[in-house]
Amino acid sequence: MSQRIAIVGAGQSGLQMALGLQARGCRVTLLSNRTADQIRAGKVMSSQCMFDRALQTERDLGLNWWDDTCPPVEGIGLAVPHPELRGEKVIDWAAPLHRPAQAVDQRLKMPAWMDAFVARGGDLRIVDVGLDELETLTSEHDLVLLAAGKGEIVSRFERDAARSPFNTPQRALALTYVTGMAPRTPFSRVCFNLIPGVGEYFVFPALTLSGPCEIMVFEGVPGGDMDRWSDARTPEAHLEESLRILRTYLPWEAERCERIALTDANGILSGRFAPTVRKPVLTLPSGRLVFGMADAVVVNDPITGQGSNNAAKCCKVYLDAILAHEGRPYDAGWMNATFERYWQYAGDVVNWTNSLLTPPPPHILGLLGAAGQSPSLASRIANGFDNPPDFFPWWTDPIACQQLIDQQLAKAA
Ligand SMILES: Cc1cc2nc3c(=O)[nH]c(=O)nc-3n(C[C@H](O)[C@H](O)[C@H](O)COP(=O)(O)OP(=O)(O)OC[C@H]3O[C@@H](n4cnc5c(N)ncnc54)[C@H](O)[C@@H]3O)c2cc1C
Repeated sequence: MSQRIAIVGAGQSGLQMALGLQARGCRVTLLSNRTADQIRAGKVMSSQCMFDRALQTERDLGLNWWDDTCPPVEGIGLAVPHPELRGEKVIDWAAPLHRPAQAVDQRLKMPAWMDAFVARGGDLRIVDVGLDELETLTSEHDLVLLAAGKGEIVSRFERDAARSPFNTPQRALALTYVTGMAPRTPFSRVCFNLIPGVGEYFVFPALTLSGPCEIMVFEGVPGGDMDRWSDARTPEAHLEESLRILRTYLPWEAERCERIALTDANGILSGRFAPTVRKPVLTLPSGRLVFGMADAVVVNDPITGQGSNNAAKCCKVYLDAILAHEGRPYDAGWMNATFERYWQYAGDVVNWTNSLLTPPPPHILGLLGAAGQSPSLASRIANGFDNPPDFFPWWTDPIACQQLIDQQLAKAA
């Protein structure tokens, strides 16, 4: 394949695409606004827990380099604290995943993939791409993909108001990477804790620069008690704030943290952004086109841990479409059709994720409670994280939801 393709952004989707195209003989120019060393030495960016189907897209390209070193995430659990009785839970269940999930610190993964791209003869350029650079790139390449994540440049894509119900951030986000946390038994898991009106906390094992760790993720309702990260001005204060939240709301999680320490001074993050879907085709002043992929065009709140999964799956859809296109020109029709193929999947992820950002309707409370009596229902919910379209129609349809609950409870009886 002798086409020239440029990819802006060396994150999950951009690098996976660059390495995938390179393996098929395509001439790829990859542009990143940070060097591999800068990424390695920078702050954590994500909790990046990826489930089996997304990991399969990496395995298909021979990019699963951490299977022996990354601790597996073997299940998913949910706890909801009792509103009055401290330390009691009104919901508490866990179910194994059919196949393990995995979270490799992007500070480890992206530089390793960048180095491989260069070692295999790829053209990596370090530049903060703006409109002028996009004009040059489109004049020199057959296709330009913009995979710049949450970078400023992605705001050039028009917001798709019909697919974006929120204008503002729905959660104050924070990450705390730690060592020394007591493990959950008998299987490791993403421990989700939903604190009504306050926010969510989830935690799971991962691999960071120094070895195995646990990643604590905080999703605070804006303006609430889990939205005080700006007061924490040092890494130590950030860790202390993480512990304060657990001691206040989730004593069973605080108990696991008696001996924790930060993995490193950069193992912390706080911020917020509005979940947004954008139109995937950007027309430059010259009339030439840029095609958006992954977070650049569909960015979700991390509450369901889907962004890296989406990025990997978006890459698979786009890569297959490029390889099937056999050198024909990449016009707006092809771009829109390719994005819609991805949206057939991603639309369900967006709807499911957005549904968790507003107070749960009664049928979802009933569902999450019933999973405590039905291991097969708990398993259905846990394994839906690997393929969110499996949540439909019952996640949004109260009648279908009740039918599922009745069926599963009858099975349990
Ligand atoms: C707090 C938090 C927790 C998360 N947890 C999870 C999780 O558990 N599971 C999950 O699946 N996802 C999670 N995510 C989301 C996930 O990290 C992202 O969705 C994923 O990394 C998106 O991949 P991408 O390729 O679209 O963009 P990114 O991986 O963000 O890569 C974009 C790259 O483009 C570069 N760039 C930006 N602008 C420019 C420019 N102008 N020129 C050149 N380069 C540029 C950036 O430096 C970056 O390297 C989380 C995100 C956050 C914020």
